[in-house]
Amino acid sequence: MIIAVDGPSGSGKSSTARGVATRLGLQYLDTGAMYRAVAWSVLESGIDADDAEAAATRARELRLEISTDPRHQVVVADGTDVTEAIRDPRISAGVSRIAATNLAVRAELIRRQQALIAAAKPSGGMVVEGRDIATVVATDAELKVVLIADQDARMARRKAELSDGAVTSEQLRDQIVRRDADDSTVAQFLVASDGAVTIDSTYLSLEEVIDVICRLAKE
Ligand code: C5P
Repeated sequence: MIIAVDGPSGSGKSSTARGVATRLGLQYLDTGAMYRAVAWSVLESGIDADDAEAAATRARELRLEISTDPRHQVVVADGTDVTEAIRDPRISAGVSRIAATNLAVRAELIRRQQALIAAAKPSGGMVVEGRDIATVVATDAELKVVLIADQDARMARRKAELSDGAVTSEQLRDQIVRRDADDSTVAQFLVASDGAVTIDSTYLSLEEVIDVICRLAKE
């Protein structure tokens, strides 16, 4: 079984997708982490993120290993463990420039994502999270979920994730608003997907959202 979980940043999709995969004994793929790894590599190589050709070449050349264990995420780019580095605010701020408009980068990562999904099928399946999973990457997914939450809820979740308190609420709101704007090209994939179930998690706990999806998966 393939379960697609799409949603904007801060909608709670990572925790949700990991929770569902763990409960159902499925593998897990964080496609955002793959875009982040490419962004990390582009920045690290000193490539201009707006040089679409060079960024696409980097994406194609990148040796990218990503674990599919929902309990333990590891991302290795060209032999370097970047699991922590790809969560750096520098990457969060820059990733959309590479992901949202560079169609050659998207094509390369979609190809890799589809290969990972195909490899997971014989062992039961996978929960795949991103923005374009139901509409582009895995259009034949058995269950398609779009997770949404209002801006205040998304901000509160991001704040809870950042334990060091170094970011003010205003900065967080700016980041979320900016990333929504930067991702507006990607957001087109988030809408019309046949048979997708939209879950508004604003007033639901993580466990409640996981419960709903697991119930839908068993129907
Ligand atoms: O999910 P996360 O916020 O970590 O994703 C990082 C960025 O990767 C997003 O802001 C978006 O620009 C891009 N992305 C994408 N398509 C996906 C997953 C993520 O374009 N399927």
